[in-house]
Order: sequence, then C-alpha cells, then structure tokens
Amino acid sequence: MKCSHELLEAYLDQELDALQIAAVQQHMAECAGCSEDYARLRRQKAGIQAAAPYYSAPAGLLDTVQEELRRASAGKAKSAAQTPWRWLAIAASMLLAASLSWNVLQFRSRQNDLAEAVVTDHIRSVLGSRLVDVPSSDQHTVKPWFAGKVDFAPEVRDLEAQGFSLLGGRVEYLAGRRVAALVYRRRQHVINLFIWPGDSAGGAGASTSRNGYSVLHWTSGPMSYWAVSDISPADLERLRELYK
Ligand SMILES: [Zn+2]
Repeated sequence: MKCSHELLEAYLDQELDALQIAAVQQHMAECAGCSEDYARLRRQKAGIQAAAPYYSAPAGLLDTVQEELRRASAGKAKSAAQTPWRWLAIAASMLLAASLSWNVLQFRSRQNDLAEAVVTDHIRSVLGSRLVDVPSSDQHTVKPWFAGKVDFAPEVRDLEAQGFSLLGGRVEYLAGRRVAALVYRRRQHVINLFIWPGDSAGGAGASTSRNGYSVLHWTSGPMSYWAVSDISPADLERLRELYK
C-alpha cells in the first residue's frame, strides 16, 4: 500500500475491513512518516475525548430519571415553558448513564482487543514470509537494531541455555504504536514476545487463550509484555519468569 492520510483516518475511525487493517498496520510498521502521522491523528482524537469529561453516575440515577419521566408526563399540561428544560435534564441524565457504561465497556474490551491483535499478528508472522527483520540469535545484534525504529529500547535476553532460542526481531504496529517483536523458538514452536512502554496494569501475568494459542500478558517497570505461541501456558509462564 502507498502512503495515504485518508486510509489512516479511516483506520483510526475503525471503518476498514480486516484486509485493509492488515495492510495499514503493515505499512505503518515500515513507514515512519505514516506512523507519525497516525500518532498525531490519535493524539488529536484523544485530546477531544479528554476534553469531554466523564463522571460517575450518582446512586439512584435511574430512580431520578424515572421520577422525572413520570412528573414530566403527568404535568405536561401544567407549564409549557418549563417542560422543555425538564426534558433536556432527562436527556442529559441518560447521556451521562450511557457514557458511564460505555467507559466501563471500553476499559474491559481494551485488553481483549490487544489479546486478539497479538494473536492475529503472531499468526501472520508465522504463516507469512516476514517472521524476523533482523535474523540473529545474538542479543547484542538484535537490541541495537531497534534503535531508531521504535522510540524505546526493548530488553533482549539470551535464553538459549534455558531452552528459548532467539531467532531475531522485527517491528510491528500494535496498540496504536510501533512495538518491538522478539521471536524465540522453544522446541519446534515459535514464540512472539511483543514489547512496548505503557499499558501498565500491575505486574502479575494474565493468561488467556485464543483459537488454540496461549497468550500471556505482564508488565515490568514501564514496559508491557505480550507473549504468544502455540506452546503450553506453562512454557510462556517460564519465559515470563526469565524476563522478570
Ligand atoms: Zn507511508
């Protein structure tokens, strides 16, 4: 795909199909210009969302709304001037309740979305022709390779003695940013270990599985880790311990 601001906007607004999404993500992993362009778009959108404040719904909100509805319908003949304001208040209360549940849902679905995204990326990397951009078992080759390609320095560990062979690394576009993907092999299984700063939500590992793939997420310091493979969750847990 060629550079396209319109496609980036459509991607941000989640208007693309799966094929287009894959094409845009692939392009952003390779194109610094579009990657930065997209980051700017995202900041603008986040700025707009941040400027619209969220509130906790007060206890008894539903009762209040229902009471207002009853009073509004009972007294609608009483005061023609007052009624529109009352309806506005009801509409505002309902919007408040809707935005509250929307926030809760978004918070929960973000981790699900990420798990889905890392599994999709893992599958694409294993089935496609691009498993690693820097094929090397040497951590001192792989780590510096990321300099200038991502805006952080991922930790790259040599775990050969522990049964995890480093195959190399590549850059991916996930979670709205460029991330480092380290590729290990354990026995005949490929493991993708995605690393990026942020998304810290406690250091404990959260294990899940998707379509037969094991996914393990943990955080360490400022870094967020996602390990994906078709090996057992216990093997991923072992990798996590070695990375702690
Ligand atoms: Zn581009």
